[in-house]
Amino acid sequence: MSVPPATITADSVTRIDAVEPSVPPERTPSMRNPVATQSIFDLAVPGRRSMLFPPSDVPDSPLDELLPADQLAGSPPALPEVAEPDIVRHFVNLSTLNMSVDTHFYPLGSCTMKYNPKRHERLAKLPGLVDVHPYQTPEDSQGLLSVLYEMQEMLGEIAGLPAVSLQPAAGAQGEFTALLVAAAYFRDRGENRTKVLFPSSAHGTNPASAALAGFETVQLGASADGLVDLDELASHLDDQTAVFMITNPNTLGLFEKDVARISQLLHDVGGLVYIDGANMNAVLGITRPGDFGGDMMHYNVHKTFTGPHGGGGPGSGPIAVRDFLGDYLPGPVITRNGDTFELATPPKSVGRMRTFFGNVGILLRGYFYLRTLGPDGLKAVSENAVLNANYLRVLLNDVLPVKHGDLCMHEFVSSAAPVKKERGVTAMDVAKRLLDHGFHAPTVYFPLVVPEAMMMEPTETESKATLDAFAAAIRSILEEDPEVLHTAPHGTPVSRPDEVAAARKPSLRFCRPDR
Ligand SMILES: *Cc1c(COP(=O)(O)O)cnc(C)c1O
Repeated sequence: MSVPPATITADSVTRIDAVEPSVPPERTPSMRNPVATQSIFDLAVPGRRSMLFPPSDVPDSPLDELLPADQLAGSPPALPEVAEPDIVRHFVNLSTLNMSVDTHFYPLGSCTMKYNPKRHERLAKLPGLVDVHPYQTPEDSQGLLSVLYEMQEMLGEIAGLPAVSLQPAAGAQGEFTALLVAAAYFRDRGENRTKVLFPSSAHGTNPASAALAGFETVQLGASADGLVDLDELASHLDDQTAVFMITNPNTLGLFEKDVARISQLLHDVGGLVYIDGANMNAVLGITRPGDFGGDMMHYNVHKTFTGPHGGGGPGSGPIAVRDFLGDYLPGPVITRNGDTFELATPPKSVGRMRTFFGNVGILLRGYFYLRTLGPDGLKAVSENAVLNANYLRVLLNDVLPVKHGDLCMHEFVSSAAPVKKERGVTAMDVAKRLLDHGFHAPTVYFPLVVPEAMMMEPTETESKATLDAFAAAIRSILEEDPEVLHTAPHGTPVSRPDEVAAARKPSLRFCRPDR
């Protein structure tokens, strides 16, 4: 049957440029998205099916002849009886309830929420890579092992630290792994070093990893310029010092210009320097942790090298260490013997940190990212990330001032303290209201050294137009009635959850907003 085309006249379409941009409409959850109020069980109708099977043309076998009776469930599972379009619409709508890099600008500081190229998704799914079973023998998985070997080599090169383990599942586990490596190294040398030091701006995972690895944690005070205070650091260093953990650029988005001197101070007392590599996006191809004195580092492949990492995962946190620490790395590492790739466990390995070869899916995306860009492309990534951050910082500096430093690296930390003082509007109010304006919020209240902190990391993948629109949204928010801001967001199904309870006691069951 042919369907006549609908008649479209100039009057029947709304011209895009005729729509007022300005303030977003206040939407009720149900207008915005039906799944905010419905579970898939609400859509069920008894007997409704997504597919109909042809009648069976083989004789029935009683199930208990095929399976032991005590393994049978007794009754069918209570699955919702729904048609395929119901399922597709339900889950597609559900997927849009969260903001993501694919739907919105996402300047979440420290998290490097850059765009994840779809090309890498496609390449990482090549059957020769994705269909390899981890229990296949190395002889049978040479293609995948060659890619992972090359990834080890590239990560070693970018770090300036040649020995690499792809095992850790995320940055935090990379930190923990490297600290176990350090502990094994000191134990091997007969040294009893108990202390791990870190600046007060450190990411919370740093002290947590150190404590988990059995070290005593020592936090340095905050210096006025936001950088490590060398005198204070020196006063803590002795033959009990194991590791100094430092993020460079640091979490204020400032390059620790004295990092080589800091490393020297640590090495003078026999300690090691750990570089938290979460901020590598600022320095790729420009400088290397190994060149400024770091002995160990982790990468966050999901941040710096584009693994999609919204919603809590997945991650990949390879570590790179100096030659003399390579013997302690977790196994297996991938080694090359002529044209053959093999799995090996380093002689004094701390053991396995994760199953098989690490989080291969994310490593592959990172691999293709690195191969796509090459050295010049990587350098351009960092240059543009830094340029974008400084551009946005300047656009906002008069309303959300940055206390530390005149220039930032790939991110900066603004403060809403002045607007809080003048109008009672907090960093949280601005962050929440941004969701109504169609932007993901920046990181707020971290690092702790900045009051009413708003940590913004635009990344290199955003256009000037996006940064301009974001800055304009913040400016218009700051002019809104504070009452509207205190209760924002108004257009999301959930407005202000108890964030601590949501993290510590997550309720993973569907719950209607009215209950
Ligand atoms: C993200 C981050 C970490 C932790 O990395 P995960 O991959 O989330 O475990 C550690 N340090 C800094 C500075 C970070 O931004």
